Amino acid sequence: MSDHIKKMLRITEPSLKIIDISYETIKNRQIIVIKANFSPNQKSCPNCGCTARNQFGNPSIVKNGKKCVRVRLDQYNHLPTIMKLFKQRYRCKECSSHWTAQSSLVEKRCSIGYHVKFKIMDLLKEKCSLTLIAKLCHVSIPTVIRILKGLGAYIPNPKTSHLPTVLMVDEFRSHASLEDKMSFICADGETGKLVDILPTRKLNRLTHYFMENPSRMNVRYLVTDMNAAYDQLTKRVFPNAKVVIDRFHIIKHLNKSFQDFRIKEMKRIAMTKNKEA
Ligand SMILES: [Zn+2]
Repeated sequence: MSDHIKKMLRITEPSLKIIDISYETIKNRQIIVIKANFSPNQKSCPNCGCTARNQFGNPSIVKNGKKCVRVRLDQYNHLPTIMKLFKQRYRCKECSSHWTAQSSLVEKRCSIGYHVKFKIMDLLKEKCSLTLIAKLCHVSIPTVIRILKGLGAYIPNPKTSHLPTVLMVDEFRSHASLEDKMSFICADGETGKLVDILPTRKLNRLTHYFMENPSRMNVRYLVTDMNAAYDQLTKRVFPNAKVVIDRFHIIKHLNKSFQDFRIKEMKRIAMTKNKEA
């Protein structure tokens, strides 16, 4: 039965045995509690390296009680699920060191299982708020933020990455930082590949950011809208680049001007008609 439940929960740890499943009510919410034993065979001592049995065939490593930890698993049938994991403790007779078995379900000194962490990472790819992710995974918002920040280590540092010959820059409304409601985005003009997103478009911050990148001399064209700030940015940090105003922004400005003129005219006509009436 234990193996079937493990298969259902996608637990592959061979030394983990499920012993009981029950319901508990915590903070007026029903949760599933899975009790499990985790007692893998130890081949050697992690401290002195001696084998499980000594030269006379007697055990060098002995079991020494159990440690109970609570591991947060992914929800099952809309119910939060936790595992009360009884981890085996061991003692080495040779060096008198103690240690606890470490399962592949959860990171050391962490109570949130890998299944939940992977679910959070998966949801972070979607267009949904951190609050919603925290609610769906039954964790706190700081936990979601911590996992998000942890992913930063796997992203190459854009400050030292190679800047393209054609650099497209623009801004968008994001409210990512308190100092500026607009964020800055830049991409490769030839491949369309994203280079970086910064939480602010303020000129001094952008200057500081690009100054740190030695490949800024490679930039030949800075494609942008009609924002005068980017002209200053080019002069400061991209001495070999020319500013190119992209067609999208020219058309956008033309459209806006036509639209403003049309509204003005409509209002004027309406006013004239009212006066005549
Ligand atoms: Zn030892």
